[in-house]
Amino acid sequence: MTIVDTTAELTARESELLARVPDGLYIGGVWEAGSREQIGVQDPATGRVVKRIANATPEDGIRALDAAAAAADDWAATAPRVRAEILRRAFDLLQERRDDFALLMTLEMGKPLAEANGEVTYGGEFLRWFSEEAVRISGRYGQNPEGTGTMVVSQRPVGPCYLITPWNFPLAMATRKIAPALAAGCTVVVKPAELTPLTTLFFAQLLEDAGVPAGVVNVIPTSTARAVSEPIIADPRLRKLSFTGSTPVGRTLLAQAGQNVLRTSMELGGNAPFVVFEDADLDKAVEGAMLAKFRNIGQACTAANRFIVHESVADEFARRVTEKVQALRLGRGTGDGVTIGPLIDDRAVASMTALVEDAVARGARVLTGGTAPEGDGYFFEPTVVVDVQPGSEILREEIFGPILAISTFSTEDEAVAAANSTEYGLVGYVFTQDLARGQRLIDRVDTGMMGLNTGLVSNAAAPFGGVKQSGLGREGGLEGIHEYLSTKYTLIPA
Ligand code: ADP
Repeated sequence: MTIVDTTAELTARESELLARVPDGLYIGGVWEAGSREQIGVQDPATGRVVKRIANATPEDGIRALDAAAAAADDWAATAPRVRAEILRRAFDLLQERRDDFALLMTLEMGKPLAEANGEVTYGGEFLRWFSEEAVRISGRYGQNPEGTGTMVVSQRPVGPCYLITPWNFPLAMATRKIAPALAAGCTVVVKPAELTPLTTLFFAQLLEDAGVPAGVVNVIPTSTARAVSEPIIADPRLRKLSFTGSTPVGRTLLAQAGQNVLRTSMELGGNAPFVVFEDADLDKAVEGAMLAKFRNIGQACTAANRFIVHESVADEFARRVTEKVQALRLGRGTGDGVTIGPLIDDRAVASMTALVEDAVARGARVLTGGTAPEGDGYFFEPTVVVDVQPGSEILREEIFGPILAISTFSTEDEAVAAANSTEYGLVGYVFTQDLARGQRLIDRVDTGMMGLNTGLVSNAAAPFGGVKQSGLGREGGLEGIHEYLSTKYTLIPA
């Protein structure tokens, strides 16, 4: 498989854009240019550093929390309509700057430009949705059962929040947390992933332009996530921790948050089953599979991880997806016609190689791909593996890369058991034309989200989140803003 465009120097347009991205920490409305030790941000398609930015220390982290705490009362007291309009302006500015944001994400994360554009749309929707929700925060009012008083239930912002985001969706994971927090009246400290901090810095500048007051949003990229985060999480002024990332880190953060009795939202790992029944529309299933597996180069917690296909259609399904996979074009996300980009780093490439080797050693067959091509950048060929045997690592681990692994089943009970045999429970995909069967599966598959005859479920208006080891809480939808609100009850005697 050839790789498109990995040796090119930065274009004039890319250099000009990168020069406009702030390189400092953003604390209390001030950009603090860093002469301190820096973070070098790489283009994963070439392995080259494209920009250096300031690297926050634990002291910087506490200063960011100082700023968020200082701004908290004023922001909570700012009229919901004003908060809503600032978020709406942010949405509008994001549309104006769409091309810049898309290119920046492709540069630091690697996804193809068309997908980066899709993320601008998806990420932007959280700004629009929560600008609409900001003015609909409401409570209850009623007589107590004894008739001796009035019960008033109201919603208050939880207070300063610490938001930790991952590298795979540099914009959307930030807006999915920042927008509801701001809508609810909370101030925030954001720690973007070290690998992709540029989009968050560029977005903080956009928020400033949209009218977000100083101290309401603070951004502290750092290469020492644990050292910077621990004192923030332990600080009694912090009231909420929201994290998106791996389950092991989530467990550590939950333990730390427990010491400070923090509200938490945890969007952790997934191991999504993708079940194809014998009565499925195979064209739809193949289309859904390509989306659920190869979007974001397979690096999504919602990515289909285990293709569980009825034995009577497994060969045909494998043949059709293999044909599609062979037509994918691997390369730098800016390249013409590129549909699949590089992985985020060399560790990810090594992990793909190990997963394929383990599956093959246990009896699987590789139909296409399976290796890392020679040359620059962190590429791995899009891969289809069939006859995957129980016990293979690829069924247990979150793959987070472009490997489509197929195993088979014969009865509905077997399919359900296979789908549920994981510690994770984020999302499941089911393909069947039998509505009753589809409904049974929705009930029986133990996940926070389901796609019935579709490979993509995310929507700003929907509650995103998982059960089991996939996390706690929901982002987006009517539920999303409540993660940043606390309920207050008042009794007024008659
Ligand atoms: P991923 O597989 O997406 O890299 P991680 O869970 O390692 O998942 O990282 C997600 C985010 O969590 C990143 O912003 C990372 O810097 C941060 N992170 C990782 N370890 C810690 C930690 N011990 N404390 C706080 N943040 C952490």
